[in-house]
Amino acid sequence: MKNVEKSRHKYTESQAYLAGGVASSLRSAMKPTPLFASKGSGPRIWDVDGNVYIDYLLGYGPLILGHAHEATTESVYAAMKRGITYGLQHEGEIELARTLTEILPCADKVALSGSGTEAVMLALRLARAYTGKRKIVRFHGHYHGWSDTIFTSFPSSDMRQSDTTALVSPVDQTILPGTSGQSEIALKDIILLPWNDSAALETALREHHDDIAAVISEPVMCNSGCVLPKPGYLEQMRNLTNELSIVMILDEVITGFRLGLSGAHGKFGLKPDLVTIGKALGGGIAVSAVAGSQDIMALIENGTVSHLGTLNGNGVATAAALATIAELSKDEGAVYAKMIKNADLLVEGIRRLLAKHSLPGIVNQIGPVFHMMFTQEPKVEDFAAFTQRDAAKYSEFSSKMLEEGVLVRSNGLWYLSAVHGEQEIEETLAAVDRALAHL
Ligand code: PLP
Repeated sequence: MKNVEKSRHKYTESQAYLAGGVASSLRSAMKPTPLFASKGSGPRIWDVDGNVYIDYLLGYGPLILGHAHEATTESVYAAMKRGITYGLQHEGEIELARTLTEILPCADKVALSGSGTEAVMLALRLARAYTGKRKIVRFHGHYHGWSDTIFTSFPSSDMRQSDTTALVSPVDQTILPGTSGQSEIALKDIILLPWNDSAALETALREHHDDIAAVISEPVMCNSGCVLPKPGYLEQMRNLTNELSIVMILDEVITGFRLGLSGAHGKFGLKPDLVTIGKALGGGIAVSAVAGSQDIMALIENGTVSHLGTLNGNGVATAAALATIAELSKDEGAVYAKMIKNADLLVEGIRRLLAKHSLPGIVNQIGPVFHMMFTQEPKVEDFAAFTQRDAAKYSEFSSKMLEEGVLVRSNGLWYLSAVHGEQEIEETLAAVDRALAHL
């Protein structure tokens, strides 16, 4: 057993002062105890007990260049020395905004915020102001941050048995809030649909388009099984929203700068009206953006929509994003090509080991992000199939991986960085082999 006594003590100490002992509720789920980190370097992270782990949590996604990347860290230091935030405009904002408009196909203009949650809040506000309508269509299994207007929870089981007509017809739906204390009124404007279901989408949009301001969707359902859109599904979403005067928002907080410089919408050749990006954009520093078409972003320019935030566009955030983008842009796609090659190696290895240990499981992958699950399902192509996985068994597996010196999220989602190399992949696969043998 790995010694994590110091982490245990720190957790107890933390609970005396920090509500819940963790700064973001999800983090308390880690077994045997939430780990306390002492440092990170490249693809590895150390805890306060001196254990070292190959890191596939990567700060829940942002660390696309690994920990303490030299060039980006230097750039952030240099920006800090020039003053952390001004409350005035500065050239870094122009440079970042220009860069994003050049890179992201859907971006005529951008707006900068601090987190993915804030970017989504702004995108929804823009859509409502632009259309003069209120309802927002969102999908089971997607996550768009924790703000009152969009945070919902989902039944984790029995999706197969649930009355899908209730999902198709948004009338009389019960939308479960994501947490206690949420405004129920805010959720009355949500229409919840099954994702990857063309008929449900078409029915709901055609029946209720007079009330629908926006459809918001992850382009790949990364938060629930890394499920790819069925061929033509996002295109159908684009066509219907165009036809029915509904704003299409792709939430690229995970996929932005992770699937490639131009995100999922660039990769799939789509032109949504708005995209939200965060996580990998800042390489670990808090920064997010909404990017979109001129006619919608004009609502900020002409003062119709307020976009506020004390630290929006601060010099540290813009320096971090610019340095991260510069690193990712090096050698004409070579950084992504290497990351994807290594992710392929790892995923193929995991699939091979699942077969070797006769453990039914699936790994859904898109580039350097993938979801591993234990399941009897032949494939996982929607949220209903995702709910059939054995979450408890995976959580046990993730604890065994910690024992083996590999940090993975307990829900099955893995991120790979540009600095994970063949050495790390080899060590990780050896750890997977041992962890699966002990399941
Ligand atoms: N949108 C998506 C798709 C996400 O995965 C997340 C976070 O995981 C968010 C929005 C919220 O971002 P943040 O945690 O930065 O507020």
